[in-house]
Amino acid sequence: MTKVEDVHEDEMRVNAEQARQVAEQARESRWDRESFGKELFLGRLRIDLIDPLPAGEISVEGEAFLERLRVFCETKVDGQKIERDAWIPDEVINGLKDLGAFGIKIPRAYGGLGLPAVYYHRALMLVGTANPSIGALLSAHQSIGVPQPVKMFGTEQQKQEFLPRCVREITAFLLTEPDVGSDPARLATRAVPNSDGSSYTLNGVKLWTTNGVLADLLVVMARVPESEGHRGGITAFVVEADAEGITVENRNTFLGLRGIENGVTRLHDVVVPATNRIGREGDGLKIALKTLNTGRLSLPALCTAASKWSLRIAREWSSQRVQWGRPIGEHEAIAGKISFIAATTFALEAVLDVSGRLADADRHDIRIEAALAKLFSTELSWQVVDELVQIRGGRGYETAESLAARGERGVPAEQMLRDMRINRIFEGSSEIMRLLIAREAVDAHLSVAGDIIDPKADLQHKARAAARAGAFYARWLPSLLTGKGQVPSGFGEHGPLAEHLRFVERASRRLARQIFYGMSRWQGRLEHRQLFLGRIVDIGAELYAMSASCVYARSDAQDDSAIELADAFCNQSRRRVEHLFGRLWRNTDADDRVLARQVLENRHQWLEEGVLDASIDGPWIAEAQPGPSQRQNHRRIVSG
Ligand SMILES: Cc1cc2nc3c(=O)[nH]c(=O)nc-3n(C[C@H](O)[C@H](O)[C@H](O)COP(=O)(O)OP(=O)(O)OC[C@H]3O[C@@H](n4cnc5c(N)ncnc54)[C@H](O)[C@@H]3O)c2cc1C
Repeated sequence: MTKVEDVHEDEMRVNAEQARQVAEQARESRWDRESFGKELFLGRLRIDLIDPLPAGEISVEGEAFLERLRVFCETKVDGQKIERDAWIPDEVINGLKDLGAFGIKIPRAYGGLGLPAVYYHRALMLVGTANPSIGALLSAHQSIGVPQPVKMFGTEQQKQEFLPRCVREITAFLLTEPDVGSDPARLATRAVPNSDGSSYTLNGVKLWTTNGVLADLLVVMARVPESEGHRGGITAFVVEADAEGITVENRNTFLGLRGIENGVTRLHDVVVPATNRIGREGDGLKIALKTLNTGRLSLPALCTAASKWSLRIAREWSSQRVQWGRPIGEHEAIAGKISFIAATTFALEAVLDVSGRLADADRHDIRIEAALAKLFSTELSWQVVDELVQIRGGRGYETAESLAARGERGVPAEQMLRDMRINRIFEGSSEIMRLLIAREAVDAHLSVAGDIIDPKADLQHKARAAARAGAFYARWLPSLLTGKGQVPSGFGEHGPLAEHLRFVERASRRLARQIFYGMSRWQGRLEHRQLFLGRIVDIGAELYAMSASCVYARSDAQDDSAIELADAFCNQSRRRVEHLFGRLWRNTDADDRVLARQVLENRHQWLEEGVLDASIDGPWIAEAQPGPSQRQNHRRIVSG
């Protein structure tokens, strides 16, 4: 195995710098519209940006569609069969197509249902509870697949050509490669323009392409080399899945989501017309990130669905299972879990609803809110489902099939746990989400103090930056000392929830101060203090969830029950926030860095002895094989 010292230090630094540059270029640097999340990290609780909530559009067609979808899921989808066969049957896929479920957000002008995002989320919640693999199928197609980037960035001709097809055809998004996970700077797939600029030739291997095994159309991210007339860079292309030179080499199987058709897709000299390029050369990652601004809400929808489902199972089981003379739900240890599941489920729904309505209203910049929603929902729903498994005891660990075989209700709690685990990894792992959000959280500081902390900036630039920063902080810092959160009547219009919003307001100012202290202490090295930044972001996520809960509890037709749940969530969330604040400066981070380095340097290798040799033969990452290989489209082979 390669030792850490063996990796050339300079090379590591250059690679890290390149990765940062690519991420920075992909980032939307402008803030043209107001942002609740940005203000929150600056110490300003702009509750007016989410309260009153934008009126959710009530669509008669949307309600009718959801009703048809519900009936379909209840009568035509056997979630356990999908789990058993590791396969979503053709009848289910075709039935979903007939219902319009592949074109929920595609405008009617192009043959779709043209529904707002909140209906898309509600649809995902229905199919996700039938079987989460169906949720993954629909969201890989509609959140990151062809329709959304074409709708947002395509030319009219591309919209006319592809959107009607996307209503009935399946699409996939191909970014990841064997050597490219969280770090697109290493992207190796090439798109070389031909001499007259009319087409590109694509070569590369794409890993873990959800829907890749059965897709009709693909969005492929490939690097165009810089050359005369070509600005080059990572670029997005729509590619026909059956184009000459495309092979699907493996159907990957996972811990969960057994029904998804996820492949390794090889592109060998695939010729793609230039008219299939989405946006400009070099805009691929920006397009992917912007698409994800709203696309990221599909995972929160699936997480909310899993939590609602967990709440129901937890309630029914805990009131019926009697141990030690009482229903287990009456034992305090289990009651605590039920309370956590109920309060968290409410918050997940609130975050989804608020973020979804903000997305539909399209008035504000919601990149931070959507990212916070993704991070918060995937982390918290994982804990919810884990607690459900604990509440179910041994039955939580037993498969639904086994339970049913011995005459008990086939509750797939263990499957839900397995299916939910990936949410913390894909569409931005939690670690990457924290970095991404932290970058936005410190943006104000970087934009005023950037040159002060840039080792490459000359003295003149540093002096100018210092003057700019001085002016900014002279106004900003005093504003963090007092606020509405300290006024006993502050947020009075929120009734019993006002005290929580006062807490959020105070915590937001405290958070901004901590970011400032972090900036002052570490300056340009702050980006390496990932654990510090992670806690900053986690606090922000809790504050957003509390704000959303308070606003959602009082919206539309909510009643006292919603106020009680919001109150319970805020009380739980406040404890987590206090804990996170406490750990900002009192932690074992420095010790952990030392220990991790020692581990990587094999100092404690003796600790691994006494068990069977864990090393399994084979390379960590498969070498890309040159040339084409046999097409093995699993789906085609089976269907004939
Ligand atoms: C079931 C499934 C479906 C998928 N579907 C698709 C799809 O449809 N299309 C597609 O393109 N991809 C897809 N992916 C790929 C998925 O998006 C990646 O797995 C994800 O981006 C993480 O990349 P990686 O697995 O290579 O992990 P790596 O990037 O190698 O990361 C490994 C670990 O290190 C952490 N890490 C990495 N960089 C940093 C850093 N700078 N700082 C701190 N921590 C860091 C990560 O968070 C992670 O914990 C899918 C994956 C799976 C398993």
